[in-house]
Amino acid sequence: MIGIVVVSHSRALAEAAVGLAAEMVAEDKRPVVAVAAGLDATTFGTDAMAVSEAITTADSADGVLVLLDLGSAVLSAEMALEFVDPEVAARVRLTSAPLVEGLVAAVVTASTGASLDAVAAEAERGLIGKQDHLGGTTVADTAPVAEADRTADVVVGNEHGLHARPAARLVGLVNGFDATVTLTDLDTGRGPVDAGSLSMVATLNAQQGHRLRVGASGPQAAEALAAIEKLAAENFGDEPVEKAAPAPGGSGLDVAIGPAVLAGDAVDLSEYVASDNELGRLDDALRAAGDELRVLRDGSAEHGGIFEAHLAMVGDRKLLEEVRAAISAGTPAPAAWREAYDALATTFEALDDAYQRERAQDVRAVRDRVLRQLTGTSATETPVDGILVVPELDAATAATLDATRVAGIAVRAAGTTGHGVIVARSRGIPLITGIGDVEVPAGTTVAFDARTGSFEIAPDEQVVRATIAERVGERRRALEEAEQPATTRDGRTVDVLVNVGVVQDAVDARGADGSGLVRTEVLFGDRRTAPSVDEQVEAFRAIARALGNKPITIRTWDVGGDKPLAFLPQDKEANPFLGERGLRVFRRRPELLRDQLEAIRRTAAETPVHVMFPMVTTADEVAWALDALGPRHGLEVGIMVEVPAAALRVGTLAKDLDFVSIGTNDLTQYTTAADRTNAAVAPLADGLDPAVLQLIDHVVRNAGVRVAVCGDLASDPQAAVLLAALGVTELSAVGPQVPLVKARLRQADLGQVDTAAVLAARDADQVRGLL
Ligand code: PEP
Ligand code: MG
Repeated sequence: MIGIVVVSHSRALAEAAVGLAAEMVAEDKRPVVAVAAGLDATTFGTDAMAVSEAITTADSADGVLVLLDLGSAVLSAEMALEFVDPEVAARVRLTSAPLVEGLVAAVVTASTGASLDAVAAEAERGLIGKQDHLGGTTVADTAPVAEADRTADVVVGNEHGLHARPAARLVGLVNGFDATVTLTDLDTGRGPVDAGSLSMVATLNAQQGHRLRVGASGPQAAEALAAIEKLAAENFGDEPVEKAAPAPGGSGLDVAIGPAVLAGDAVDLSEYVASDNELGRLDDALRAAGDELRVLRDGSAEHGGIFEAHLAMVGDRKLLEEVRAAISAGTPAPAAWREAYDALATTFEALDDAYQRERAQDVRAVRDRVLRQLTGTSATETPVDGILVVPELDAATAATLDATRVAGIAVRAAGTTGHGVIVARSRGIPLITGIGDVEVPAGTTVAFDARTGSFEIAPDEQVVRATIAERVGERRRALEEAEQPATTRDGRTVDVLVNVGVVQDAVDARGADGSGLVRTEVLFGDRRTAPSVDEQVEAFRAIARALGNKPITIRTWDVGGDKPLAFLPQDKEANPFLGERGLRVFRRRPELLRDQLEAIRRTAAETPVHVMFPMVTTADEVAWALDALGPRHGLEVGIMVEVPAAALRVGTLAKDLDFVSIGTNDLTQYTTAADRTNAAVAPLADGLDPAVLQLIDHVVRNAGVRVAVCGDLASDPQAAVLLAALGVTELSAVGPQVPLVKARLRQADLGQVDTAAVLAARDADQVRGLL
């Protein structure tokens, strides 16, 4: 193994650099690194004699590489060669490589037993990763790599991507094989690059979740691939990092007051005045947007993936080239930026795959983030101190708002069952939907009360504050009694559980008797590759643990409709809600379901678990699902009833089941033929429509098994009483509503609820009146 000498004016600097480089490789693999730095521990300078001694210390038959810092370090090193044995001097190489990056690359490469030439070349390329990232030399400037004989795909699981240490482990591993190995980042299209070169691997800038295609050729190609797959599965040697706990949730109230913060409107470019340095402005804006995104990513344990993807979009090289070319041709930076990202959003919207189509929303978010930087307009997103007024609420916004700062969200579109609304509710953010086109001047005080449906501009603040105080008291009392059972005045006990989309929902839940719905497609919604069985078990275990090992009902992947999954591409459909959704998808692609069922069975061996299948229509589907599940071993099995046909023939479907759970969100949209994501028909999609209630009543009377409701109707305390009166024995609600639903049930006398009148009512409004 070659030896290394570091010549520097500062001993502290040299020792710190050596310490940093040493971190990259295991102790028993490190080359000898000798330091000749400073005239003493604190006096700057270099001394030829000290350098010659260091060379002698580091000398090996394979040679010595000398890295240097400024000016006279070079002179001292050259002079030192006069002092050492000429035979030794002949195998010493002074390199112009950068001290820190070169030293790291040299230590990593030397540790693999590479020759002096190879180590020196690698050290000299030490700046490539940084230059490439910051826009100097590009990967394309380096020699092309050969075609691979065989390939394998691996995923970067490391929290901070393939950063220096894991990259060093990979390079060390690769260089131990007689094989040429290349890496291509399939998510950014970067590469292929030489996987035996630390600097080239650095140019990939591969982030967590990115898929890497590993190509290998040569006598040990197969062994190299197998070893790399193993290393990747072990997180490239990094310890799995505990995610930071996400910010606590919102107040859980249904009333709010605060200044209106308008969002979602186009960024106004009309006042923009171009300068003679538009490229510089663009770079500043990109840097600032990148900084913002990194803060958002690092602060969001559950949804960091969304911002990671946005970061990749901000740094898209191809688009940046286009934007820069347009700016150089005279287009102002905002116009050039907007044009390129609008075009990209249009491309996404035209794609066949539903998940990819949804990414158009991300592209627009990235477009606007940079435009706001360019125009100096303040961001209208996190953190928001006030009431966010948005045309529609998407899940990413709902998931990532700072729930401790936003006073509430007012959505212009109606509808309470879209996933953005569900996410915001589950986070306890006060929310009202359907405020319509009312003109809201930015900054004016607004207030809403979702219970009465009122939205006021410039309200009487005293009145609103009094209502808030009353609701806070109500909530506090409900929380105090949250752990008590929900036994009605006439002695019926209803189990009230929590719906879980992210583990935090289970952590935050108070008083839940378990989970009546774990939305697995939301739990793993950020993933670009399917989670392994182990990963699923770990997540299910965490949910069960957070709920004190009370029963959890895990729903198998409910992909389709408005819930695409990146790792399960689906064809474009004219009516996705009526197409391949939920269980339907897996009759063609059973392997993913099998893995999930395996994870569910394994979790069930440790803690009480129920499994349920979504979007079931026929008895054949139930039989197929039970067959896919195999022996139950005490696992309780059910289906969701969310298709009217399933509700009508529930007795047949439930014959071999332990329970059914009514998904009122979908049952309502299918009964009323009103798309749950379409604001224009939202008033039709009312869960209290007597037609929906008649189906629920039919299910309770005919199922012959336990009937639960896990749709969002169960989160409305009034509706919860009605459902219980109809005979539903288990309700699963969004976390913040669980204590309120329980409190309301405790006050209720179910015998007093006139269910006959409700079922015969003319419409949902009349039902509300009766309740
Ligand atoms: C439902 O449809 O009511 C339900 C609970 O499922 P999701 O909202 O996830 O479609
Ligand atoms: Mg559903």
